[in-house]
Amino acid sequence: MNEFNIHRIREDFPILTRRNFNNKQLIYFDNAATTQKPKQVIETIVNYYKNINSNVHRGVHFLSEEATTKFEEAREKVKQFINADYSEEIIFVRGTTEAINLVANSFCKNKLNENDEIIISSLEHHSNIVPWQMLCECTGAKLKVIPIDSNGDIIFEEFIKLLSEKTRLVAITHISNAIGTVNPIEEVIKTAHSKSIPVLIDGAQSIQHKKIDVKKLDCDFFAFSGHKVYGPTGIGILYGKKELLENMPPYQGGGEMIQSVSFEKTTYNTLPYKFEAGTPNIAGAVGLASALDYITQIGLDNIATYEREIFEFATEKIQDIDGIKIIGTAKEKANIISFLLNNLHPYDVGAILDNEGIAVRTGLHCAEPLMKIFSINGTVRVSLAFYNTKEEILKLVEAINKAKKLLT
Ligand code: PMP
Repeated sequence: MNEFNIHRIREDFPILTRRNFNNKQLIYFDNAATTQKPKQVIETIVNYYKNINSNVHRGVHFLSEEATTKFEEAREKVKQFINADYSEEIIFVRGTTEAINLVANSFCKNKLNENDEIIISSLEHHSNIVPWQMLCECTGAKLKVIPIDSNGDIIFEEFIKLLSEKTRLVAITHISNAIGTVNPIEEVIKTAHSKSIPVLIDGAQSIQHKKIDVKKLDCDFFAFSGHKVYGPTGIGILYGKKELLENMPPYQGGGEMIQSVSFEKTTYNTLPYKFEAGTPNIAGAVGLASALDYITQIGLDNIATYEREIFEFATEKIQDIDGIKIIGTAKEKANIISFLLNNLHPYDVGAILDNEGIAVRTGLHCAEPLMKIFSINGTVRVSLAFYNTKEEILKLVEAINKAKKLLT
């Protein structure tokens, strides 16, 4: 196991040396929105554009071949990272949002009618709610929502009650981006499968914190975004079991996804290209592969151990502040602490923290229905990554106390 050296790791992230408009050192606690990029990833992308840039799968020339090799190596890397069986099961998309929309449109659209149901949970990000609502609107299918208790844990007995012969898919987040609940996805998958119902996991908030093994999980689909796992924006992954993907129609039409085109009839390409219409985000894929290399080198176990330590430290320090109410106290939580300070508006608290150079997210966190369940208009959200430190957390506590003084 490599030694986890926080000081050396921080040197890999050039942005962490930034100062804000008050000349305060940046303290970045908005990692659930997007993570920062290590110089290894930035340099890989620069090198790609400087030396390799070309289109993939088309040219006879050496650059196109090199770009194609890099692109396909990136697919292979993702396959290994999540322990998929086949590289054809790895579809490059724009991000989690597009991955979920792909499944909603391709896996579900032609098959659903008013007798069918899709199950999601109360904890979902809008991108795992709205695509299903749109699907229900045009097919007449119904959306069923697993309720949560006051801690922010899904009520498993209610989930079991929702499952029926009408259920076509369960789509559920691994970790809530708004309140940090870690869902018991292993049991969710097992229970759904006992009734032959497929499961999609939204892994946008778990891929960067937990070892994901799609084979062990036995999930049918797994979606994540490159930018939340230290890679670039505009690239993400849909993993799907090969036998499911093979039987799904293309999601978008265009170049790359075809075998042969005539005005009378077009035949489609094989997996994974069937789902990759148009020129893909080649630099994004190469950058994502570099990010996966980077965290693999640090060690996923090292990352998990360190993150657990700072998460527990942060939870303890924040909840000790007089006037703090933590929203979401699930049995298992990770990396995200959402809170309210007295009756202050989260935005006002966030603005004071911003003055101190501390970047947090305030508001609904793209989880408006969840905020409604807690009868609140939003929270202040602190989300951690492995480059954060206890010193930064102590500065946050100081700044929260300052906000309280200034605003009350
Ligand atoms: N699901 C969850 C749980 C998320 O946190 C996010 C991003 N905040 C998404 C989906 C959407 O990801 P993206 O915007 O990268 O498509």
